[in-house]
Amino acid sequence: MTQPFAIAIHGGAGTILRAQMSAELNREIRQALQQAVSAGHQLLARGGDALDAVVAAVRVLEDSPHFNAGHGSVLTDKEMVEMDASVMHGAQMNAGAIAGVRHIRNPVELARDVMLRSQHVMLAGEGAEEFAFSLGYEYTEQDYFFTERRYDQLQSMKQKGLFALSESAYPDDTKHGTVGAVALDQQGNLAAATSTGGITNKRYGRIGDSAIIGAGTLAENGTVAVSTTGMGEYFIRKGVAGDVAARMRYLQQDVHTACEQVIQGDLKAMGGEGGLIAIDAQGEIHFAMNSSGMYRASIDVQGHLLVKIYADE
Ligand code: ASP
Repeated sequence: MTQPFAIAIHGGAGTILRAQMSAELNREIRQALQQAVSAGHQLLARGGDALDAVVAAVRVLEDSPHFNAGHGSVLTDKEMVEMDASVMHGAQMNAGAIAGVRHIRNPVELARDVMLRSQHVMLAGEGAEEFAFSLGYEYTEQDYFFTERRYDQLQSMKQKGLFALSESAYPDDTKHGTVGAVALDQQGNLAAATSTGGITNKRYGRIGDSAIIGAGTLAENGTVAVSTTGMGEYFIRKGVAGDVAARMRYLQQDVHTACEQVIQGDLKAMGGEGGLIAIDAQGEIHFAMNSSGMYRASIDVQGHLLVKIYADE
C-alpha cells in the first residue's frame, strides 16, 4: 500500500472581487492552478520527493503570466522585475533562498540549487545571479518579464505614490499574486516553496517574506510545511510560517487551529493582509486568508482535486 501523499498550492491572496473578474480570466487562472497542482501531484504519485513536487508546481505558476512570480512579476519603481524565492525540505530542515534577482527565468529552481549546491541558505542580487550562471543558468532578459498590464499597474501606483500587493483594492489593478506550494511525499517528507515578484513600485532593493525562511516558507518533518502570501512587511515581523509551526509543536494545536489563529488573530490585528497554505505530517491541508480571496488548489490524500479563488467559495 502506498503511503499518504498530498499537495496544496497558492497563487496569491488579496482583494479578489468577482465583479472585477472576467469569465475568461477566471477560466485561465483556474486552469493554471489545476495544471500546477497536477504537475506536483504526478511527481508525488510516482514516489518523488516533496521538494521536487513543490518546485514543479511553482515552476508552472512562474511560467504563467497570471501570477506575480517569474514571467508575470510586478515591476519596481525602476520598471524592472526583482524576484524573491525560497524552498525548504523538512527532513533535515535544509533551505535555500534568493532575493532580488533580475535575470532568472525560474527563481524557485535557483532557490533549490542554493540549498543543494551551495554552502549557504540565502543569496541576493548580483551574487545570486553569478552563482546561477556558474551552474549554467541562462541569462533571461528583462523583456521576458515585461507585461503591459504590470506597466500600467506601476504607473497607477506611482501616481498615487503608493506601493501595493498585486492583488489590491485599486480597480485598475489586475488580480495576480505570489505563488507557493506545500507537499507531503510518500516517504513522509514535508516541503514548501514560495516565489514572487514582490510588491508593485517597490524600491531600494526591498525584499519580502517570500525569500525568508520562517516568515514566507517553512517545512519541518513531523510538524508542518507552510507557504505564505500577503504584505511581506507584516509576515516578516510576525514570522508567520514559523509561528504556525511553533503553535503546532509547543501548543499541540492542529494545523487548522494554528493557521487560523495566526492569520485571523495576530497578523490581522497588526494590519497584515494575506493568507497561507499549510500541510501537516498526515497530509491534512489548510488554506487560511483574511482577504477576500486567494488563488488556491490542492489534491488531498484521497486524491480529491479542489480549485478555488474566493474566500467564501
Ligand atoms: N508576500 C509577497 C511580498 O511581500 C507579496 C505577495 O504575497 O503578493 O513580497
